[in-house]
Amino acid sequence: MTKPAAAVDSPIAARVVHKSTLVDQPGILPVIKLMLNVRPDGRSFEPGTDVAFVDPDAPADDSTHGLRLFTVEAVGQVPFEDSIDLTLYVRTNRGQTTGIAHRLTRLNQGDTVDLYGPFAYPFYPPMGSRSNMVFIGAGSGMIPFRWLAHKIHARRFDWMGKVLMLEGDRTGLEHLYLNDPVADQDQYFDGVTFRAFEGLKTRYSASALDHEESATDNMESFWRLLGQGSVYVYLSGYRKVAAAMDEAMSDHLRMPERWHETKAKLQSDGHWLEYLYD
Ligand SMILES: Cc1cc2nc3c(=O)[nH]c(=O)nc-3n(C[C@H](O)[C@H](O)[C@H](O)COP(=O)(O)OP(=O)(O)OC[C@H]3O[C@@H](n4cnc5c(N)ncnc54)[C@H](O)[C@@H]3O)c2cc1C
Repeated sequence: MTKPAAAVDSPIAARVVHKSTLVDQPGILPVIKLMLNVRPDGRSFEPGTDVAFVDPDAPADDSTHGLRLFTVEAVGQVPFEDSIDLTLYVRTNRGQTTGIAHRLTRLNQGDTVDLYGPFAYPFYPPMGSRSNMVFIGAGSGMIPFRWLAHKIHARRFDWMGKVLMLEGDRTGLEHLYLNDPVADQDQYFDGVTFRAFEGLKTRYSASALDHEESATDNMESFWRLLGQGSVYVYLSGYRKVAAAMDEAMSDHLRMPERWHETKAKLQSDGHWLEYLYD
């Protein structure tokens, strides 16, 4: 990711004032609710903005590596104080014993952690409800798009466009995400998020599953959708997985320039929104 301005250079201390388990069901990865008390000192935190934490093992002279975003759920003013409480929801991945999410879930009440930001949430929804959308989780799953899905859900209308949700650790295109309570169990976040993604699960995604799932079929569905008028592509995850996606699409089309031109056009139209990290 690009270095997010001066905020990265000046973290503020965040103290854990509350920790509880938001989601705790058999077979489902726990989601931890953390309430962090900070003195904003002129910074403006809002629900839906992002805060970030840096991996303490990242090289000291490079604050861009290991920076991870978390979306602020709620902001509460502490009465009679010039501090606020930020609520975050944090979920780790199965078997994860490293990484920032893991570290955050191990914090206890009274602990402090360096917090960076706030940063603007990187994704905005299309105007109206007729555009087609592609979400690509490049090794990150759907979690970066959680707030985007919430924003769309909050408009309270049925999504009329087609929606294709893809994710995978190799190219981001291996798995068709269907918000399935069994197949996508490890991606479950909370009830609100589940309902928000349900609203986006259109017939397009479902019909793409008519055949045995394969990255090739997913790439074909992706390419076909790009040819159908107003399309927004939302990409998030690891930079190297996103690079593998570019390569996979170039190979799939057998004409790299076709892929690069299409992507460049979407970028220049503001229809390709990405947030990548190392
Ligand atoms: C805009 C945005 C908003 C976000 N909001 C939230 C939020 O509100 N709450 C939240 O919990 N997270 C959120 N995330 C995700 C979070 O920023 C991290 O990407 C995530 O926690 C992984 O980073 P890490 O440092 O914990 O793990 P890393 O150090 O990146 O990885 C640690 C280990 O876990 C593995 N791993 C990481 N991700 C996956 C995966 N999806 N599947 C399988 N293995 C994996 C890695 O391969 C590695 O072995 C958001 C991300 C973005 C871009």
